[in-house]
Amino acid sequence: MEDFDTLCVHPLGRNVHPSGSVASPIYPSAAYDYTGNEGLRYPGFYSTYNQLRTGEIIAKLEGGEWGVTLSSGMAAISTAILSFVQQGDHVIFAADLYGGTMALAEQEFPKRGIAFSYAGNTMESFRAALSGTTKLIYLETPANPLLGIVPLKQLAELARANGIMTIVDNTFASPINQHPIAHGIDIVVHSGTKFLGGHNDLPFGALVTAEMHREKILSTAKMYGGSLSAQACYLAERSLKTLALRVKKQNENAMYLADYLSGLAGIRSVFYPGLPSHPNHVIAKEQMSGFGGILSFEPDLNAGRLPIFLKNLSIIQPALSLGGVESLICAPAETSHRGLTSEKRRSLGINDHLLRLSVGIENASELASDLQHALAKAQ
Ligand SMILES: *Cc1c(COP(=O)(O)O)cnc(C)c1O
Repeated sequence: MEDFDTLCVHPLGRNVHPSGSVASPIYPSAAYDYTGNEGLRYPGFYSTYNQLRTGEIIAKLEGGEWGVTLSSGMAAISTAILSFVQQGDHVIFAADLYGGTMALAEQEFPKRGIAFSYAGNTMESFRAALSGTTKLIYLETPANPLLGIVPLKQLAELARANGIMTIVDNTFASPINQHPIAHGIDIVVHSGTKFLGGHNDLPFGALVTAEMHREKILSTAKMYGGSLSAQACYLAERSLKTLALRVKKQNENAMYLADYLSGLAGIRSVFYPGLPSHPNHVIAKEQMSGFGGILSFEPDLNAGRLPIFLKNLSIIQPALSLGGVESLICAPAETSHRGLTSEKRRSLGINDHLLRLSVGIENASELASDLQHALAKAQ
């Protein structure tokens, strides 16, 4: 993991801009001279220069050939998916999926004549979901909110053997902890809004893949309009310089809290891939270099007491996003998975009191005290 410290700060080597500036240039132009542009490195639309530059940086971190940043994680996800599937195709999604991606499949695919099915986290369930028209397998690992892990290498082998593309949403791991492309995955997508941006203030998305997919992806991206402003690209690039620093601290803090909560009376269960008790711990250890900054746990509270717990937290803030320097907490049953029936939620293992904690870079023992204090108040 060590080399990421330097790579994050100098991803494209020494800056050689004619101005001598240490920070990267941005080109906020929405119009370009169309004559005599032979030498232009990034011809294009709007802030393509900066979208491709930040994409190149994220590609470096992911170990991929080429990348682009877009206006949100969902822009990256829909661009990636819609570049490669068409009428008559079948897509397999892992069952634990970001809500927006699930909505894209359930609401948009039927209109386009694209079939899909869900698979569990096991290789058997992906194998069972294969059909003659399967074109794409799409998954998240670790996945929301129980941090389920899919074995990337085996999955990529299964897909390649059947001529199927693979897309992995690497948002929860970040490129500091996991490199799906090294395991044979074709495309990595990110909600940059989370760890890559890291400050809960910058919506963007990223997509990394092989150079050969560049034209196809850029043409889909252009059609669906997910441009990202040069100013936002600049903020993304700045955020990425501290990615390794932040994520390592988040890994450490999350491991500390997962251990702490596991030993705390009044906590029913803790889900964190770094805990030997996690059902996918062995695979996580094989394919991740750190276990990430997200964990979930279930406090043992009487009905109706969860709001008291949340109200008594003084550092950790109840809010929906994740991956930032501020620790945030949310109850999936009330937020991300609110739209499902309680039976459906229970079948996914999401009980009403389950809490997802996105661990920030604060002092770990202060975070532990915050949780312990709020729990005592709510019990
Ligand atoms: C937040 C999130 C997304 C969507 O990203 P946006 O930037 O909000 O569009 C996709 N996948 C995962 C795993 C996420 O957490």
